[in-house]
Amino acid sequence: MTQSERQKIWPELLKDCGDNGRIIYHKDWSQTVLGPIESWPVILQTSLLTCLESRFPIGLNWGKELIHLYNDAARPIVEGHDGKSSIGSPISDVYSEIWQIIEPMFKAVLELGHSTWVEDQLVLTNRNNFIEETYMTWSYSPIRDEHGVIRGTTCSVLETTGKVIGERRLRMLQEMASRANGKNSVLEACRECIDILKDNENDIPYAVLRLVDSNLNKARVVGSFGITVPDRAIDDVTDHYHPALVKVMETKKPLFVNDLPSDVKIERDVSAGPKTVYVLPLVDKFSNDSSVIGFLSVGLSSKRPFDDDYKKFLDILSNQVSASIISARSQELALLKSREEAFQHASELSRGEINKLSQLLDASKDHVFILDREGRYIYHNQATANALKANLIDQGRGSEPTLNRNGIEMNFEKDFLKRFTDARLKAFTGKAANVDVLFPTLEGPREFECILSPMYDENGNVVTVAGITRDVSDLKQSIKVRDEFLSIASHELKTPLTTLKLQSQLRTRMLEKGKVDFFSVDKLDKMFHDDDMQINRLNRLVDDMLDASRMNAGKIELHMESFDIQEVVHDVLNRLSLHLQNNRIDVKLNMQPVVGVWDKYRLEQVFTNLLTNAIKYGEQKPITIETKIVNDELVMSIKDEGMGIKKDDQKRIFQQFERAINSSSVSGLGLGLYIVSEIVKTHGGEISLESRIHRGSTFIVKLPLKTKLINS
Ligand code: ADP
Repeated sequence: MTQSERQKIWPELLKDCGDNGRIIYHKDWSQTVLGPIESWPVILQTSLLTCLESRFPIGLNWGKELIHLYNDAARPIVEGHDGKSSIGSPISDVYSEIWQIIEPMFKAVLELGHSTWVEDQLVLTNRNNFIEETYMTWSYSPIRDEHGVIRGTTCSVLETTGKVIGERRLRMLQEMASRANGKNSVLEACRECIDILKDNENDIPYAVLRLVDSNLNKARVVGSFGITVPDRAIDDVTDHYHPALVKVMETKKPLFVNDLPSDVKIERDVSAGPKTVYVLPLVDKFSNDSSVIGFLSVGLSSKRPFDDDYKKFLDILSNQVSASIISARSQELALLKSREEAFQHASELSRGEINKLSQLLDASKDHVFILDREGRYIYHNQATANALKANLIDQGRGSEPTLNRNGIEMNFEKDFLKRFTDARLKAFTGKAANVDVLFPTLEGPREFECILSPMYDENGNVVTVAGITRDVSDLKQSIKVRDEFLSIASHELKTPLTTLKLQSQLRTRMLEKGKVDFFSVDKLDKMFHDDDMQINRLNRLVDDMLDASRMNAGKIELHMESFDIQEVVHDVLNRLSLHLQNNRIDVKLNMQPVVGVWDKYRLEQVFTNLLTNAIKYGEQKPITIETKIVNDELVMSIKDEGMGIKKDDQKRIFQQFERAINSSSVSGLGLGLYIVSEIVKTHGGEISLESRIHRGSTFIVKLPLKTKLINS
């Protein structure tokens, strides 16, 4: 057979070389860079025939353009993306996505004649009716013609999917065994498991881990990724997700759940295939009845067949997750046991002392307690119990205190808990520690100071911490009031003193200058009157302060005599007449004679204070004074039509230093009403107040006609 005859008939051989052989045979190559098929060089013919007849995936790339030809075995790999034939296309078009990676390899083959290869390359392969995640190792070798010139390349491929995926899964199982095991708490173990699962999205695109609480018969979500699941309990869900878990619990076998409830949202892109969750039971194989302790629900890869290998892998995985949880659970129990033992030890050491003192401690208003290293109450007195109870009510948790053990963790605000814990730990290092806290009580929040001191055992180790918590609100309030008073008092005393000082300086200057006019009789008269006013004011302030302090000490003495209360009213009005006239204040009297046995000087003080207040706060409106006898008692009222007193302030103003007004607007020490009410009380009487804001105030004093001395 001649060369040209052979060229003519060689394409016939392609007809017996599978589908791709026939495609190549029927294709019109005359319009392509390869030219009519009959003209193809012998080396291309033989290489192509060898390739097409092979059962392994093999391809070849010919000419400068690297025109791609391949056999049937290579079709799933080459046509994986869209199933379209790539026969006759340049290789750079066929693998356009990875051309950048493989171009240098082709160059090495074509320019240098070196064989090159790629190992375990991910190739998305269209086979078994879905796009599959597969891995291939392939190599390129040169095709030389009879002159040794490189005309193209062959490409042989070896599938390594099983190896790559097998290794990946094994690695994950090893990770699970080494990282998730031996954790101290179940939650920590669960978190670690989820973290490890998250690292292998190819096999587990999303997962939910639930733990069964056998006491409550509920399964709680303890971790998830790639999916949003509402945290629902087994026994309080009615949709179909719930029976699936129940079934897995009964059968202890995995189960597929299709059609997820609408509130379960898958976040990961697992577009292909049904949205299926594979629910595996987490079984405690060491328990008597192999109980189910939880569920591992996983998403399945849509790019891998759910074959025996996949199933087995998930089985082993769920066993490992169970093992990690069980081991953490036993660690937790051991820790609890050792905590319990430490608690018992500390309790025993403290018991003796406490028994001796418990009655005394229960009588204390201070909170006295003893804590162990973990902050659990070994002892608390009654006041501590009451305080915690108040706190619970404050938080709307009901009236029963949860004491000892973890009580303290439950009852206090977060910031305090941290400071308290720090102080407790400091006390365990042997140093006393203080913490302040605004603590809710039945009367509202109050300030407490807590001192924690270390308590030692016979070996000199700190075993417990004793605490005393004291209500320091009153103390702090008194300090505040004292400081305020000092500043008001010095201001009040300074005002008349400054006036007197200025006057005296003025007079000295006038004398020095020989200005006799300044000292005429009428001017002197006014001067003495003004001085008298300032001195009286000073006197009154000092008297008030002395009186208040005597009254505080209970040292007020009454000098009784019989007189008509009208005398007192008239005397005081006379004394203040100039002032009343200057301020154009109208005083209405509505008085009956009332004779009684009282301390005249003190009652003058009462009336003076009440009238002065009516003038100070009465906004120059009329003042009405009434005296009468009702039920054998003197009833004296002083009524003004001024600014009035808010309801909230009406009780408070009878206490020392309390004022219901901005201190700079009207001067005063806040002592007058305190002195008045003390005098009235000492006479066995009472004082009351009726007032409306902007309408005025009426102070009503009731005194028995004959005082039974209460306090002398
Ligand atoms: P002081 O007048 O020196 O402040 P008091 O003890 O006499 O002290 O009075 C206490 C407070 O009661 C006053 O500061 C004022 O706010 C209020 N108050 C007393 N009397 C009256 C009144 N008649 N009208 C309005 N407020 C009054």
